[in-house]
Amino acid sequence: MENIAGHISSIKASLPDSVTLVAVSKFHPVDVVMKAYEAGQRVFGESRATELKQKALAMPSDIEWHFIGHLQTNKVRMIIPYVSLIQSIDSERLLRLVSDEAVRAGRVVDVLLQVHVAKEETKFGFTPEELIDFASKWDRNSTPGVRVRGVMGMASNVDDDNRIRRDFLDIADAFKALADGPMADAGAFDTISMGMSHDYLMAVECGSNMVRIGTTIFGEREY
Ligand SMILES: *Cc1c(COP(=O)(O)O)cnc(C)c1O
Repeated sequence: MENIAGHISSIKASLPDSVTLVAVSKFHPVDVVMKAYEAGQRVFGESRATELKQKALAMPSDIEWHFIGHLQTNKVRMIIPYVSLIQSIDSERLLRLVSDEAVRAGRVVDVLLQVHVAKEETKFGFTPEELIDFASKWDRNSTPGVRVRGVMGMASNVDDDNRIRRDFLDIADAFKALADGPMADAGAFDTISMGMSHDYLMAVECGSNMVRIGTTIFGEREY
């Protein structure tokens, strides 16, 4: 944790201003995450509901908390008061539930639709075909508690740069297909979240405007 401020500033120096850096703080304790806050970082990503809530309550209120993990339906209500962007909407059912809970809480919550392109079968999300299919049938008036801002995705966990690049381009294409198609009249559909510690520069080359970086800022996680 010695040089968290230094890691953040070198990442920022490598990113165009138009790219949002989400500091992925999952599994790191509040005192460590505060080092990033003190360095000026205000956007943080968490992958577990309980941890997001605990950190949101313990840390300054001008932080934007993003949820980036698989969100269990029974945890949605817990995070609604604290979350500014749910990046990992991986099913129509979850989208509808988040909308219902947001309405119940008197909020509109920004969300991203998770696109699955990676080789691994265990990853959650819509395939690009499922995404287009869903978005063309979906009546946005039926989900007044959410504002869909874009897509989130991950590349395959492989060493092959060509495969990683292809995955990122597929995610960016899925975004474009929605932005030029079913989401053309939606407004504020503007976010492509892709890129992690080991692949974020390539993700930005492929069109990402939001990167989610944990290890390079905070070091290895202890699970
Ligand atoms: C943990 C996580 C990250 C951060 O990964 P690093 O390799 O530590 O940068 C990014 N995105 C998601 C969805 C994650 O779960």
